Amino acid sequence: KKDMQQKLRCPIICILGHVDTGKTLILDKLRRTNVQAGEAGGITQQIGATYFPEAALKEHQEKCKGRLDIELQIPGYQIIDTPGHESFTNLRSRGSNLCDIAILVVDIMHGLEKQTLESLQLLLNKKTPFVVALNKIDRIYEWKSKEYNNVRDSLEVQEHHAIGEFKERLNKTILEFAEQGLNSALYWENPNPQEYISLIPTSAITGEGLPDLMMYISQLCQTVHREKLREKEEFECSVLEVKVIEGLGTTIDVILVNGLLSVGDTIVLSGFNGPIVTNIRALLTPQPMREMRVKGEYMHHQSIHGSMGIKISANGLENAIAGSELFRAANEEEVIHYKEQIADDLVDIMDKYVDKTSSGVCVQASTLGSLEALLEFLKQMKIPVTAINIGPVHKKDVLKAMKSIAGDIVEKEYATILAFDVKVTPEAQQFADDNGIKIFTAQIIYHLFDSFEEYVKKCRD
Ligand code: GDP
Ligand code: MG
Repeated sequence: KKDMQQKLRCPIICILGHVDTGKTLILDKLRRTNVQAGEAGGITQQIGATYFPEAALKEHQEKCKGRLDIELQIPGYQIIDTPGHESFTNLRSRGSNLCDIAILVVDIMHGLEKQTLESLQLLLNKKTPFVVALNKIDRIYEWKSKEYNNVRDSLEVQEHHAIGEFKERLNKTILEFAEQGLNSALYWENPNPQEYISLIPTSAITGEGLPDLMMYISQLCQTVHREKLREKEEFECSVLEVKVIEGLGTTIDVILVNGLLSVGDTIVLSGFNGPIVTNIRALLTPQPMREMRVKGEYMHHQSIHGSMGIKISANGLENAIAGSELFRAANEEEVIHYKEQIADDLVDIMDKYVDKTSSGVCVQASTLGSLEALLEFLKQMKIPVTAINIGPVHKKDVLKAMKSIAGDIVEKEYATILAFDVKVTPEAQQFADDNGIKIFTAQIIYHLFDSFEEYVKKCRD
């Protein structure tokens, strides 16, 4: 009983999946429900995350009556906005993932696509719990829609042939998951959510299945993932984005998961040129939804409690690395401690993935999280790595790539820099061209592999 009384924090939810499966539209449709619900506990568009307060879940709860009755104990949701898997790989906290639970969106008309598999791999690697939104059910031939309907109610009113098509597509997806060695089932038929992936049919156009999605996640959070969501005093915060804002200079958008941040606090975070130590000048959040039209106006706070998306203004943030963990230091000793810990982070990654004794490719990425994800994929594909870096590709990085192949007779394909989501300076590109170093760039990890694989094939022919 005492267990039930302990306070739970908002779960942090990420949405990921293949492009065009409906990630953005699902979020939009979820936001819109609350416009009708009035202003009590309105959904606020926060920095990097959308906050859905408990009040915004009530409507979904109504729609699930008699199907999925639960008593809400979580105070709401924080859904990370930045769509796609980039955001997901960017989120890093205590070496693990900051996301409590993920929604993997699959287009029911297409089944598992390439980026779905990539997202799936990330989730499994990081042991992040997830549910699958089997989206676009409204595209089933002669589907009869009802706005924001519980999907089981919707299924009951469909004609025989629509049910047939639904089942056929559902089974195809289940089979595709099985090919990945994974069990999956419709959430209401799931015999064990820790062994089977739950599939929740949805439509981001009609809103069908969204109540199911919201309530089923609540249920999982309050049962199997309860421990993780206990409110703790322990400080936990992660940098989502680094942004230049007119009048504020370089700011960072963070998600404060647990604990308290106040103006004047000393914070320690990762920077491209080593750890950054600075003091918080301002803690900002956007105005509540109604006043969002007043562009560029932020609310100032003296202190903020997690979990919450916050913009931090402070000196010296120009070189901050998105995706890194942010620490609050109470004294000089803690500053030293956290600086060491940050330095260790990169060393840990080096030790795990980089082999300096052999030849291999150079890898460069925009964030710690994406660097790690990229290295994990290279490891699985048995492509050796000799050097890593975070940030834009400069001439010195090309030099490093040259050094890593100098002297030895090595495979041509290793005279390569794989650059993920970073810029290449014109000098660096010119220098690379002059010296036979190939630089591959991409915004999506698998595109990087595709072009590299093709190149390797060409080299070996
Ligand atoms: P994202 O790339 O995953 O964020 O996908 P979007 O949310 O941008 O959606 C991609 C396209 O699919 C858009 O044209 C949407 O209108 C459409 N779409 C998304 N969800 C649904 C859905 O549930 N049903 C239908 N019919 N179309 C959808
Ligand atoms: Mg999108």
